[in-house]
Amino acid sequence: MKNLFYASFLVIILTSCANENDNVKQVESGVSEAMATQRASQISNVHYNLSFDIPNEQKAPIPSQLVLNFDLEHFKEPVYLDFKEETSKIKSVSINKTEVDILHKKEHIVLHEDYLIKGNNTVIIEFDAGELSLNRNEDYLYTLLVPDRARTLFPCFDQPNIKGMYTLNITAPNDWKVLCGSKEIKQTQKGEYTQHNFSASDQMSTYLFSFVAGKFESVTQKPANMDMTLLFRETDTTKIKYSLDSIFDLHQQSLSFLEDYTAYPFPFQKMDFATIPGFQYGGMEHVGAIQYRESSLFLDESATANRKLSRAKLIAHETSHMWFGDLVTMNWFNDVWMKEVFANFMADKIMNPAFPDIDHQLAFMITHYPNAYGEDRTLGTNPIRQDLENLNNAGSLYGSIIYNKAPIMMRQLETVLGKEAYQTGIQEYIKTFAFKNAVWGELIDILDKKSTTDMVGWSDVWVNSSSRPIFSDDI
Ligand SMILES: [Zn+2]
Repeated sequence: MKNLFYASFLVIILTSCANENDNVKQVESGVSEAMATQRASQISNVHYNLSFDIPNEQKAPIPSQLVLNFDLEHFKEPVYLDFKEETSKIKSVSINKTEVDILHKKEHIVLHEDYLIKGNNTVIIEFDAGELSLNRNEDYLYTLLVPDRARTLFPCFDQPNIKGMYTLNITAPNDWKVLCGSKEIKQTQKGEYTQHNFSASDQMSTYLFSFVAGKFESVTQKPANMDMTLLFRETDTTKIKYSLDSIFDLHQQSLSFLEDYTAYPFPFQKMDFATIPGFQYGGMEHVGAIQYRESSLFLDESATANRKLSRAKLIAHETSHMWFGDLVTMNWFNDVWMKEVFANFMADKIMNPAFPDIDHQLAFMITHYPNAYGEDRTLGTNPIRQDLENLNNAGSLYGSIIYNKAPIMMRQLETVLGKEAYQTGIQEYIKTFAFKNAVWGELIDILDKKSTTDMVGWSDVWVNSSSRPIFSDDI
């Protein structure tokens, strides 16, 4: 009797769920490859107009607004915006001027197809900003949204191949500075707070969007023909005096090299940077506003040559990303290794010659070969290029194969092609896919035409297959 009662009760629950919305129930949490593929074919011309009102109190919520414009084609189903936060943070949703019920399922805000139109749509969402990746401190905060954390901060299409423009409007305490990917065009003081308005940004993927706000010192220099601004919190005057000029010069040195090597001028409105105490990585290549770990850039006279080389390479690495990753972006995170390998490869080219006393070949071998072989000879090894079914598993891709085998592969690739064919291939790749997305195979197709070697076959062995090659022969 009891069991039967529960069984029929369960049937009612299941039936009511199934009836609620047949399309919604098929959606999974995270950003699945299937959803990303569908959205990329449907959605274009994305423009995020974002406002954040940052209060003085670290724990108080951040009231925010998104005015989202996008073009939509051939749709029969709802459109899903990614927002990985509690539903209570969403205050209202309006689609094309109609206020609609808030439907938030499995980390997605569901935009019902009845309110959408073919062509340009405007969606307005009032919400409290998600704070998982906001890194809030008492007197500063910064976003770090790679690989799929833009969706923890604001509703968006969080996938690298839907690039968008961002127009930001940030209100913060009067003594705070604000840095983001585009230029500040207006400041308006309102009592204890100042509203900072920024121009529309360049096109970028969600993981490259950022802002930094807080009590920072600011220095602007013009090492060549572009102003660059640095925000920092370092207080050691010796380190500041010893490091400032070098930080700007190293960026300029990298920039000049890359413009020459890629035959493509610096592609964005600006390149500013902020140093942040205790930053999670050495650096992160946000468009227009690179973030660095403060202690990696500010050195004093006692710094060793190796420490200076590391700083130089870090700056060259992040600057290289402006072309490799930011301008030409992976289509999906299974190719995230490409931008990292390119950035390291270019950083070696840019900075090694300035440190002639260091044996760079030996350093490369010691750093990469033991780790790459150590992993690649095991049964559990994986190819450099792996499938990724959902962005929420992107973290599982990182390891010795990406960090150590891939750099060896890239050197081999240049050796097989020859330096000149390799460089002209890279130039063609950058020019072809500028402000777009590319997959590894598209680069290989370009390189294949520049070589008598079968580069597609070569890439299958090095990149798409795991383990080291096994040679056999009959004698
Ligand atoms: Zn990188």
